[in-house]
Amino acid sequence: MKVFKFGGASVKDAISVKNVADILSKFNQNNLIVVVSAMGKTTNALEEVVAAHFSGDKALLHRNISKINAYHQEIVADLFDGRKNEISNELTEIFDRLKRHCEKPASDNYHFEYDQIISFGEIVSTKIITAYLEDQNFKVDWIDARKVIRTDSRWREGRVDWDTSTKLVKNALNTSFESGKTIAITQGFLGHDEAGFTTTLGREGSDFTAAILAFIMDAEDVTIWKDVPGMLNADPKYFENTVLLEKISFREAIELAYFGASVIHPKTIQPLKRKSIPLYIKSFIHPDEKGSVIQESSQYDDHIPSFIFKLDQILISLTPKDFSFIVEENLEKIFGYLNQESIRINLMQNSAVSFSFCVDASKIDLEKFKAFFGDDYLVKYNEKLELVTIRHYDEPTIKRVTINKEILLEQKSQQTARMVIG
Ligand code: ASP
Ligand code: MG
Repeated sequence: MKVFKFGGASVKDAISVKNVADILSKFNQNNLIVVVSAMGKTTNALEEVVAAHFSGDKALLHRNISKINAYHQEIVADLFDGRKNEISNELTEIFDRLKRHCEKPASDNYHFEYDQIISFGEIVSTKIITAYLEDQNFKVDWIDARKVIRTDSRWREGRVDWDTSTKLVKNALNTSFESGKTIAITQGFLGHDEAGFTTTLGREGSDFTAAILAFIMDAEDVTIWKDVPGMLNADPKYFENTVLLEKISFREAIELAYFGASVIHPKTIQPLKRKSIPLYIKSFIHPDEKGSVIQESSQYDDHIPSFIFKLDQILISLTPKDFSFIVEENLEKIFGYLNQESIRINLMQNSAVSFSFCVDASKIDLEKFKAFFGDDYLVKYNEKLELVTIRHYDEPTIKRVTINKEILLEQKSQQTARMVIG
């Protein structure tokens, strides 16, 4: 049993969906689990539907939904070369259902509504791909992730209930494969809570779904098909001359994902590591190339320095106004606030009388922060900074990224150098 995951970019139009079918046909399709995201930028488009729903602007809401429907209908028309097919009517019904859902006034809970609406993206993508694969004579079964992945009711960040999910997933997939189907296709990112409401696993959570299913089904391996050749030592958007990391360990991948490498969702590795299930990252554009594999052995980890850039950072420092020492009591208050506001610290450091930390500018409300701490602390901050992490660094690589830049804060351990630069 293998698990494949195809993200939004790999199914963004009819040509891409045909390419997915080509990739599937290259592999032994016995007991293949295929996890798919919403097509192209549909999740972002659905976020606008959620916003319109809450704004009460019905005209905008209908326009947004119609645009998403039209986008998918065009893909269907291209896939079936204009031939008649059921799926086109089914899509219309699904989007009518979404419109009806939005006829009712939005509930008070934005995050709950978000999950109910955002999930339509994965539902329609998997419906279309299933219809196309059936048309191409693949023996494919559509599995509803909203019935098999059980989470708690934490909307937009559902936490997996492994025991219940294990029972539900095994039952659904075994039934499907025993009935003679060879490919089970399901939605990434979606789940359901105990009451049956749809939940999601956090943006870009489809990779995690692939890992959950692989863990539960004891898959042989997982392949994430991407628009990059594999795991690179830096983001090609910001870096020239990137190098492919052909083999890295689970531990290394966890570190890279933690520091902000965006190629895989950070939660993906843990379940795979626990069962030593290798994770391949391959290009859907060049599917015959080797790509990267993340596995147990750490033999190759330190051969190539890796760079991770986090942009638009704020470095905040707090100094007690009475210049008393920073002790556990202060830290408790600071961490308590950040935890409550779901603000993640990217880097921190303290001296005798100050505590400094770096966060994504988009995640913090500075005015609120200053109002909360301003009475007792001197609050200083620097904006528009970059946080650079270099794994397996040496001095020349540090020089390369900091040349002509001001280093505001620097931390080094044996394997990792991290710098906040302006
Ligand atoms: N479609 C979801 C998103 O864009 C989940 C995913 O792509 O992994 O966040
Ligand atoms: Mg996506």
